[in-house]
Amino acid sequence: MVSCAHCEQSLCCEACGEPYVPPSQAHYEALSWIEVPLSCPECEQVLVCRWCKTPYDGTDESVTLD
Ligand SMILES: [Zn+2]
Ligand SMILES: [Zn+2]
Repeated sequence: MVSCAHCEQSLCCEACGEPYVPPSQAHYEALSWIEVPLSCPECEQVLVCRWCKTPYDGTDESVTLD
């Protein structure tokens, strides 16, 4: 199980509810690089954290959590 880079809960896909399992070590490492877009291996949608709704689409607009 991997943790969301934003909310640190276990990372699940918002679209299909499946836990995100990185298909490779490179994908796992990409989790800490917000600018790298990730897609869900189950439903092939852009990965969105089920808990904090942060999209892993290669943008980082949620960094200001004030
Ligand atoms: Zn999250
Ligand atoms: Zn999915």
